[in-house]
Amino acid sequence: MTGAVIEVSDLVVRYGTATALDRVGLTVEAGEAVALIGPNGAGKTSLVNAILGVLRPAAGRARVRGRAALVPEGRQMFDDLTVADNLALGAWRRRRERGARDTARVYEVLPRLAELKDRRAGSLSGGEQQMVAFGRALMADPDVLVVDELSLGLAPLVTAGLAGHLRALNAERGLAVLLIEQNARLALDLCARGYVLEAGRIRAEGTAAELASGSAVADAYLGGA
Ligand code: ATP
Repeated sequence: MTGAVIEVSDLVVRYGTATALDRVGLTVEAGEAVALIGPNGAGKTSLVNAILGVLRPAAGRARVRGRAALVPEGRQMFDDLTVADNLALGAWRRRRERGARDTARVYEVLPRLAELKDRRAGSLSGGEQQMVAFGRALMADPDVLVVDELSLGLAPLVTAGLAGHLRALNAERGLAVLLIEQNARLALDLCARGYVLEAGRIRAEGTAAELASGSAVADAYLGGA
């Protein structure tokens, strides 16, 4: 696939009289990894919901070409189901025989999941659960993966391991990624390009290097580094 897989333009989202997103524009090209950085309450979840079509914008549009799959904030597993059953739920819209092929493909990309497949999801560590959430999203054979807070609640070493998987999926398999993160250092390390969302508006955009050296991002998100 070539061209934009996610195209957001002049997007406005309101809750009652409160404006959560104010004329937001963002693009993810096929095969690209793009970061969306912003503090709590900036409107990141609203943007994800608009992209996935579960929220109706007041104005503007959010368009996805191909298939988008979400790795949701907080993982959202079915704790009492096994890892394998949680993965199967990621393929609920696909035919059964395809589901089996998709499972094999996911185990190939994330071999640790094959080892864990009969475990109850609720018994896994946070990092393992995040890997299940990744696997479940990959079951949809997406063109673009939307990752909402990769690092949330995970130890740095665990986050680094997951980041490695994400990097490989992007670099080796050409999977486009929109990575939504409060951890700007991680996001700019993984992604070539990014946007900074603050109080519902895009405050900065550019290459990872530009954003990292820009004073607004450096001061606010990288501890002045
Ligand atoms: P967080 O990282 O804390 O989830 P966020 O960047 O994802 O934050 P959103 O959840 O999109 O931000 O929220 C953006 C703004 O819209 C916030 O001010 C929030 O309080 C408000 N908001 C979100 N959902 C609703 C809702 N259902 N009703 C009213 N206000 C909402």
